[in-house]
Order: sequence, then structure tokens, then C-alpha cells
Amino acid sequence: EAKRDPGTSYRFYDRQLHISAGYQLRLEADLRSALRGKELELYYQPRIDLATEEVRGVECLLRWNHPERGLVGPDEFIPVAERSGLIVPIGYWVIEQACQRLRESAELGFPGLVFAVNLSFRQFHDRKMTETIFRIIFNANVDTSLLELELTESAMMHDPEYAQRCLRELNQLGISFALDDFGTGFSSLTNLQHLPISLLKIDKSFVQDLGHSADAEHIIRATISLAHSLQISVVAEGVENEGQLEFLRQQHCDEIQGYYYARPMPWKDLVQFLTNRDQAACLER
Ligand code: C2E
Ligand code: MG
Ligand code: MG
Ligand code: MG
Repeated sequence: EAKRDPGTSYRFYDRQLHISAGYQLRLEADLRSALRGKELELYYQPRIDLATEEVRGVECLLRWNHPERGLVGPDEFIPVAERSGLIVPIGYWVIEQACQRLRESAELGFPGLVFAVNLSFRQFHDRKMTETIFRIIFNANVDTSLLELELTESAMMHDPEYAQRCLRELNQLGISFALDDFGTGFSSLTNLQHLPISLLKIDKSFVQDLGHSADAEHIIRATISLAHSLQISVVAEGVENEGQLEFLRQQHCDEIQGYYYARPMPWKDLVQFLTNRDQAACLER
């Protein structure tokens, strides 16, 4: 059904169109020109430290300003980009853009903000991945310790040896890694314990089941305690209300990300958001 996310628009193609090859090709052609024509834009969603209530970082989330269809969310076009291979150049553009914003954020007086970027399966398995990322961060001249890459279990477990090598190489450059959508895959943290992962993101489906399912509570509690015992921090995604927030606080979840605090927003709005929070914090003092 139509997923209404204010950062994204309505689902613009229905199931029928979804499976039409002609439509796929058109969407692919549209995407190609979107990348060239600067129709792609990053939105930024703050991540809040539960102990200090400070904004620790932002997740960069891709949006497509389609000339006819308006703002289109990634669930619509990432699958097409992934199948066509376009996700590879798009993904590098995202990292470049994130690095540029990272530099800007320090210049604007918000140093230390972490920028998290999603890496797709296909991009992670691009043979030139590590060298391309190396070139991007070298050219951008950013503090790599503020750059975080989010990967899913399936991207990492497809070829564990490859994953280990890539993560270590990039980790040596200062980049850190987050395991995204945790709980939705089939692997377990024990499979991942040899990888340099410093953060785990609990999938929003568990957070949204809080209050409706005892299982969700058990899973979240167990995940946090296991992650902590492995020195891995935990972010809960999709926090929308006070009840979820309180539960996560009690479980010593490290950070939260969700509409309750902030939705994904364009860069200008993020700068305003950070400025307002800074001013509010000054008034409190
Ligand atoms: P994700 O990485 O798990 O990102 C979190 C998603 O949860 C985002 O959806 C965000 O808008 C949404 N979200 C955050 N808080 C809440 C909340 O409180 N309630 C609800 N209902 N949703 C919330 P979005 O922006 O539509 O992105 C969907 C997925 O698309 C992302 O999931 C990620 O897997 C992928 N994606 C986004 N940007 C990129 C990108 O630049 N590259 C790649 N490869 N994938 C991307
Ligand atoms: Mg993510
Ligand atoms: Mg996620
Ligand atoms: Mg997700």
C-alpha cells in the first residue's frame, strides 16, 4: 500500500507497471538522466544520543526530484538502480556529496557530526569499490573518522572473506561501519564478530512492534545486550513515540533515529534544525 513518508512521495508505479519490462527500461533511462541532470538529492535524518540528547550524526538518504512525478523515495528506484548497475555511479555520487556536506558542516560550526551513507549490495561488490572510495575521500580531504558506511547482513555475508578484506582496508583509512536493518536477515552477530563493525542499527520493524508484541521487546533487549558485550553501539531506527523512546532508554540503547525527533530533511533544513537546537541548548544553560 502507499507508504506515506513526508520525505518521499506516493508510490508512483503500481504492481502492474512494476513488472512491465518497458516501464523498467524507461525508469532506468530516467534515472540515468537524473544522475546527469542533478535531479538526485540527499536528505539528512539526525541521529540522537539518548544519554546526552545531542545530535551525534545524520544518515544521508537519497531522494529523486522527478520532473513530473515530484519527490520519489529510494524504495521506488533503488531496486531498479541495483538491477541495472546504475547504483554504482549513483552510490559514489552519494559518498561524494556526503563528504562535501561533512566539510561544510564543520565550516558552519557543527564539527564532529557523523555522516552515515548506505552502501548497496551491488556497490559493495563493485571491484573498484575500495579504490574509488579511497579516491573520493582523498580528494574531499575530510576527517574519515566522521564517515560511516551502512551495510546489511546480506551484503556482508554473501562473501565473508571479501567483506572482511574490504571492511578492514576501509577501516584502516578511518571509516567505520554500521550493520543496517539488523534482525531482518538470517545471519547472526556471531557470523559478523570478525568484522570491524562499530554500530548496529535495529530495524524499524522491531521498534514499531513495541507495545504490540512481547517478542519485539525480547529481541531488542537481547540485541542490545549482545551488541554491548561485543563493544558495538546500538541505534534504534523508526522511533516515532515516547513509549518506544522510554523502552529504548531503559534498555540503554545508545542512539535513536526516527520521526519522534526528526524526519529526513533537505540540507538547508538540517542546518536550521542544528542551529535551533544549539540556541535552545544555550538558553537552557
Ligand atoms: P534505511 O537505510 O534502513 O533507512 C532508514 C529508513 O527509515 C529511511 O527510509 C527513513 O526515512 C525511514 N525512517 C526513519 N525514521 C522513521 C520513522 O520514525 N518511521 C518510519 N516509518 N520510517 C522512518 P527511506 O529514506 O525511504 O530509505 C529507504 C531505504 O532506501 C534505506 O533504508 C536504504 O536501505 C535505502 N537508501 C536510502 N538512501 C540510499 C543511498 O544513498 N544508497 C543506497 N544504496 N540505499 C539507500
Ligand atoms: Mg541505513
Ligand atoms: Mg535501516
Ligand atoms: Mg530499512
